[in-house]
Amino acid sequence: FRKIPISSGHKDELAQLGATFNRMMERIKQSFARQQQFVSDASHELKTPLTIIESYTNLLKRWGRQDQNVQEEAIQTIHEESVRMKQMIHQMLTLAASETTCTFTYQSFDLVELARDSAQLFETMNSRTIQVKSPAKSIKIWADREKIKQLLLILIDNAVKYSEKIVEIYMDQQPAYTTLSVTDYGIGIPEKEIPFIFERFYRVDKARHRKTGGTGLGLSIAKAIVMQHQGTIAIKSIEGKGSKIMVKIPNKT
Ligand code: ADP
Repeated sequence: FRKIPISSGHKDELAQLGATFNRMMERIKQSFARQQQFVSDASHELKTPLTIIESYTNLLKRWGRQDQNVQEEAIQTIHEESVRMKQMIHQMLTLAASETTCTFTYQSFDLVELARDSAQLFETMNSRTIQVKSPAKSIKIWADREKIKQLLLILIDNAVKYSEKIVEIYMDQQPAYTTLSVTDYGIGIPEKEIPFIFERFYRVDKARHRKTGGTGLGLSIAKAIVMQHQGTIAIKSIEGKGSKIMVKIPNKT
Protein backbone atom coordinates (compact mmCIF):
# COMPACT_ATOMS: atom_id res chain seq x y z
CA PHE A 1 0.00 0.00 0.00
CA ARG A 2 1.06 3.49 -0.68
CA LYS A 3 0.41 5.69 2.28
CA ILE A 4 -1.43 8.82 1.27
CA PRO A 5 -0.40 11.70 3.50
CA ILE A 6 -3.36 13.53 5.01
CA SER A 7 -2.90 17.24 4.72
CA SER A 8 -4.64 19.62 7.13
CA GLY A 9 -7.07 20.49 4.31
CA HIS A 10 -8.02 16.82 4.01
CA LYS A 11 -8.34 16.57 7.78
CA ASP A 12 -10.80 19.46 7.75
CA GLU A 13 -12.77 17.80 5.01
CA LEU A 14 -12.80 14.51 6.93
CA ALA A 15 -13.94 16.28 10.09
CA GLN A 16 -16.69 18.00 8.13
CA LEU A 17 -17.75 14.70 6.57
CA GLY A 18 -17.79 13.11 10.04
CA ALA A 19 -19.93 15.94 11.42
CA THR A 20 -22.37 15.70 8.50
CA PHE A 21 -22.60 11.95 8.98
CA ASN A 22 -23.29 12.39 12.72
CA ARG A 23 -25.97 14.97 12.02
CA MET A 24 -27.56 12.67 9.46
CA MET A 25 -27.53 9.72 11.86
CA GLU A 26 -29.05 11.92 14.57
CA ARG A 27 -31.87 12.93 12.22
CA ILE A 28 -32.48 9.29 11.20
CA LYS A 29 -32.55 8.26 14.87
CA GLN A 30 -35.01 11.04 15.72
CA SER A 31 -37.25 10.19 12.80
CA PHE A 32 -37.16 6.50 13.77
CA ALA A 33 -38.06 7.37 17.38
CA ARG A 34 -40.93 9.56 16.12
CA GLN A 35 -42.23 6.71 13.95
CA GLN A 36 -42.03 4.29 16.90
CA GLN A 37 -43.89 6.76 19.10
CA PHE A 38 -46.50 7.20 16.37
CA VAL A 39 -47.07 3.46 16.06
CA SER A 40 -47.41 3.07 19.81
CA ASP A 41 -49.77 6.09 20.14
CA ALA A 42 -51.78 4.90 17.16
CA SER A 43 -52.33 1.40 18.50
CA HIS A 44 -53.26 2.82 21.90
CA GLU A 45 -55.81 5.20 20.34
CA LEU A 46 -57.32 2.49 18.15
CA LYS A 47 -57.79 0.23 21.13
CA THR A 48 -60.35 2.54 22.72
CA PRO A 49 -63.04 2.35 20.01
CA LEU A 50 -62.27 -1.34 19.51
CA THR A 51 -62.83 -2.08 23.22
CA ILE A 52 -66.12 -0.18 23.12
CA ILE A 53 -67.23 -2.10 20.01
CA GLU A 54 -66.29 -5.39 21.68
CA SER A 55 -68.18 -4.71 24.89
CA TYR A 56 -71.29 -3.49 23.06
CA THR A 57 -71.20 -6.58 20.86
CA ASN A 58 -71.16 -8.72 24.01
CA LEU A 59 -74.06 -6.72 25.40
CA LEU A 60 -75.95 -7.22 22.17
CA LYS A 61 -75.27 -10.96 22.23
CA ARG A 62 -76.50 -11.34 25.80
CA TRP A 63 -79.47 -8.93 25.98
CA GLY A 64 -80.07 -7.69 22.45
CA ARG A 65 -82.83 -10.16 21.62
CA GLN A 66 -84.92 -9.42 24.75
CA ASP A 67 -84.34 -5.73 25.16
CA GLN A 68 -85.13 -3.33 22.34
CA ASN A 69 -83.40 -0.38 24.11
CA VAL A 70 -80.16 -2.30 24.56
CA GLN A 71 -80.32 -3.33 20.93
CA GLU A 72 -80.75 0.24 19.68
CA GLU A 73 -78.10 1.73 21.95
CA ALA A 74 -75.60 -0.99 21.05
CA ILE A 75 -76.13 -0.67 17.31
CA GLN A 76 -75.86 3.12 17.50
CA THR A 77 -72.64 3.01 19.56
CA ILE A 78 -71.03 0.32 17.42
CA HIS A 79 -71.83 2.37 14.35
CA GLU A 80 -70.40 5.61 15.84
CA GLU A 81 -67.22 3.95 17.04
CA SER A 82 -66.62 2.21 13.70
CA VAL A 83 -67.02 5.53 11.90
CA ARG A 84 -64.55 7.12 14.33
CA MET A 85 -62.09 4.27 13.83
CA LYS A 86 -62.34 4.55 10.07
CA GLN A 87 -61.75 8.30 10.28
CA MET A 88 -58.78 7.74 12.60
CA ILE A 89 -57.16 5.19 10.28
CA HIS A 90 -57.69 7.49 7.30
CA GLN A 91 -56.11 10.42 9.17
CA MET A 92 -53.21 8.30 10.41
CA LEU A 93 -52.42 7.28 6.85
CA THR A 94 -52.64 10.90 5.72
CA LEU A 95 -50.29 11.99 8.49
CA ALA A 96 -47.82 9.18 7.83
CA ALA A 97 -47.83 10.03 4.13
CA SER A 98 -47.35 13.74 4.75
CA GLU A 99 -44.36 13.04 6.98
CA THR A 100 -42.61 10.53 4.75
CA THR A 101 -43.29 11.57 1.19
CA CYS A 102 -42.38 14.92 -0.23
CA THR A 103 -44.53 14.80 -3.32
CA PHE A 104 -46.14 18.11 -4.07
CA THR A 105 -48.35 19.15 -6.86
CA TYR A 106 -47.79 22.85 -6.90
CA GLN A 107 -50.09 24.95 -9.02
CA SER A 108 -51.48 28.44 -9.16
CA PHE A 109 -55.03 28.81 -7.85
CA ASP A 110 -57.44 31.24 -6.23
CA LEU A 111 -57.50 30.84 -2.44
CA VAL A 112 -60.70 32.88 -2.05
CA GLU A 113 -62.54 30.61 -4.46
CA LEU A 114 -61.22 27.48 -2.71
CA ALA A 115 -62.28 28.86 0.69
CA ARG A 116 -65.77 29.68 -0.64
CA ASP A 117 -66.16 26.14 -2.05
CA SER A 118 -64.95 24.56 1.20
CA ALA A 119 -67.23 26.78 3.29
CA GLN A 120 -70.20 25.87 1.14
CA LEU A 121 -69.66 22.17 1.81
CA PHE A 122 -70.07 22.78 5.54
CA GLU A 123 -72.95 25.23 5.13
CA THR A 124 -74.93 22.66 3.20
CA MET A 125 -74.03 19.78 5.53
CA ASN A 126 -74.46 21.57 8.87
CA SER A 127 -76.76 24.48 7.98
CA ARG A 128 -74.28 26.90 9.53
CA THR A 129 -73.21 30.33 8.37
CA ILE A 130 -69.57 30.48 7.29
CA GLN A 131 -68.49 33.93 6.23
CA VAL A 132 -65.60 34.17 3.76
CA LYS A 133 -63.96 37.60 3.75
CA SER A 134 -61.02 39.13 1.96
CA PRO A 135 -60.05 42.64 0.91
CA ALA A 136 -59.23 41.24 -2.55
CA LYS A 137 -61.75 39.58 -4.85
CA SER A 138 -59.25 36.88 -5.66
CA ILE A 139 -55.94 35.80 -4.09
CA LYS A 140 -53.69 33.79 -6.39
CA ILE A 141 -51.25 31.50 -4.63
CA TRP A 142 -48.72 28.90 -5.82
CA ALA A 143 -49.21 25.87 -3.57
CA ASP A 144 -50.49 22.30 -3.38
CA ARG A 145 -54.21 22.88 -3.94
CA GLU A 146 -55.40 19.55 -2.55
CA LYS A 147 -53.37 19.99 0.63
CA ILE A 148 -54.54 23.57 1.16
CA LYS A 149 -58.11 22.36 0.67
CA GLN A 150 -57.52 19.68 3.31
CA LEU A 151 -56.11 22.36 5.64
CA LEU A 152 -59.21 24.52 5.15
CA LEU A 153 -61.54 21.57 5.75
CA ILE A 154 -59.77 20.65 9.00
CA LEU A 155 -59.91 24.22 10.34
CA ILE A 156 -63.54 24.78 9.32
CA ASP A 157 -64.52 21.36 10.69
CA ASN A 158 -63.04 22.24 14.10
CA ALA A 159 -64.65 25.69 14.15
CA VAL A 160 -68.04 24.13 13.36
CA LYS A 161 -67.55 21.26 15.85
CA TYR A 162 -66.55 23.43 18.78
CA SER A 163 -68.94 26.34 18.30
CA GLU A 164 -72.57 26.96 17.48
CA LYS A 165 -72.43 30.43 16.03
CA ILE A 166 -71.06 31.96 12.87
CA VAL A 167 -67.60 30.98 11.59
CA GLU A 168 -65.40 33.51 9.82
CA ILE A 169 -62.67 32.87 7.27
CA TYR A 170 -60.40 35.77 6.46
CA MET A 171 -57.66 35.89 3.81
CA ASP A 172 -55.21 38.57 2.82
CA GLN A 173 -52.09 38.81 0.68
CA GLN A 174 -48.95 40.84 1.30
CA PRO A 175 -46.03 41.03 -1.14
CA ALA A 176 -44.10 38.29 0.70
CA TYR A 177 -46.80 36.11 2.22
CA THR A 178 -50.47 35.16 2.33
CA THR A 179 -52.46 34.91 5.55
CA LEU A 180 -55.53 32.85 6.30
CA SER A 181 -57.49 32.72 9.54
CA VAL A 182 -60.52 30.78 10.75
CA THR A 183 -62.39 32.30 13.70
CA ASP A 184 -65.18 30.86 15.80
CA TYR A 185 -67.09 32.06 18.87
CA GLY A 186 -67.40 28.70 20.60
CA ILE A 187 -66.07 26.86 23.64
CA GLY A 188 -62.45 28.00 23.21
CA ILE A 189 -59.41 26.28 24.70
CA PRO A 190 -58.06 26.65 28.25
CA GLU A 191 -54.76 28.58 28.21
CA LYS A 192 -52.72 25.72 29.68
CA GLU A 193 -53.87 23.33 26.93
CA ILE A 194 -52.97 25.60 24.00
CA PRO A 195 -49.30 24.51 23.72
CA PHE A 196 -50.36 20.88 23.17
CA ILE A 197 -53.20 21.06 20.67
CA PHE A 198 -50.98 20.60 17.59
CA GLU A 199 -49.63 17.34 19.05
CA ARG A 200 -50.82 14.06 17.59
CA PHE A 201 -53.86 12.54 19.28
CA TYR A 202 -54.11 15.42 21.75
CA ARG A 203 -57.68 16.33 22.61
CA VAL A 204 -58.72 18.83 25.27
CA ASP A 205 -60.87 16.98 27.76
CA LYS A 206 -61.48 13.74 25.87
CA ALA A 207 -64.68 12.94 27.77
CA ARG A 208 -66.32 16.30 27.04
CA HIS A 209 -65.45 16.03 23.37
CA ARG A 210 -66.36 12.38 22.96
CA LYS A 211 -69.68 13.28 21.33
CA THR A 212 -67.98 15.52 18.76
CA GLY A 213 -66.25 12.43 17.44
CA GLY A 214 -62.80 13.86 16.74
CA THR A 215 -59.53 11.97 16.63
CA GLY A 216 -56.98 14.50 17.86
CA LEU A 217 -55.17 14.27 14.52
CA GLY A 218 -56.72 17.15 12.57
CA LEU A 219 -54.47 19.92 13.82
CA SER A 220 -51.29 17.83 13.50
CA ILE A 221 -52.17 17.19 9.85
CA ALA A 222 -52.90 20.93 9.45
CA LYS A 223 -49.50 21.74 10.95
CA ALA A 224 -47.71 19.23 8.69
CA ILE A 225 -49.35 20.81 5.61
CA VAL A 226 -48.35 24.33 6.67
CA MET A 227 -44.79 23.18 7.43
CA GLN A 228 -44.54 21.59 3.98
CA HIS A 229 -45.32 25.04 2.57
CA GLN A 230 -42.66 26.62 4.83
CA GLY A 231 -45.38 28.52 6.64
CA THR A 232 -46.45 29.02 10.24
CA ILE A 233 -49.63 28.13 12.14
CA ALA A 234 -50.69 29.65 15.45
CA ILE A 235 -53.77 29.85 17.62
CA LYS A 236 -55.37 32.50 19.83
CA SER A 237 -58.10 31.16 22.04
CA ILE A 238 -60.08 32.20 25.09
CA GLU A 239 -62.03 29.58 26.99
CA GLY A 240 -65.74 30.19 26.64
CA LYS A 241 -65.25 32.91 24.03
CA GLY A 242 -63.78 31.28 20.94
CA SER A 243 -60.69 30.54 18.89
CA LYS A 244 -58.80 31.96 15.96
CA ILE A 245 -56.35 29.85 13.97
CA MET A 246 -53.88 31.86 11.92
CA VAL A 247 -51.86 30.50 9.00
CA LYS A 248 -49.11 32.38 7.19
CA ILE A 249 -47.61 30.99 3.98
CA PRO A 250 -44.75 32.60 2.04
CA ASN A 251 -45.62 33.51 -1.55
CA LYS A 252 -43.93 31.44 -4.22
CA THR A 253 -44.00 31.77 -7.97
P1 ADP B 1 -60.05 16.65 16.91
O1 ADP B 1 -60.24 15.61 15.88
O2 ADP B 1 -60.21 16.13 18.30
O3 ADP B 1 -60.83 17.90 16.67
P2 ADP B 1 -57.66 18.26 16.40
O4 ADP B 1 -56.24 17.85 16.30
O5 ADP B 1 -58.26 18.92 15.21
O6 ADP B 1 -58.47 16.99 16.85
O7 ADP B 1 -57.79 19.26 17.63
C1 ADP B 1 -57.18 18.91 18.87
C2 ADP B 1 -58.03 19.43 20.02
O8 ADP B 1 -57.95 20.86 20.06
C3 ADP B 1 -59.51 19.12 19.91
O9 ADP B 1 -59.82 17.86 20.44
C4 ADP B 1 -60.15 20.23 20.70
O10 ADP B 1 -60.11 19.90 22.07
C5 ADP B 1 -59.19 21.40 20.48
N1 ADP B 1 -59.68 22.31 19.42
C6 ADP B 1 -59.27 22.35 18.13
N2 ADP B 1 -59.90 23.34 17.45
C7 ADP B 1 -60.73 23.93 18.33
C8 ADP B 1 -61.66 25.04 18.26
N3 ADP B 1 -61.86 25.71 17.12
N4 ADP B 1 -62.32 25.38 19.40
C9 ADP B 1 -62.13 24.70 20.55
N5 ADP B 1 -61.28 23.66 20.69
C10 ADP B 1 -60.59 23.28 19.60
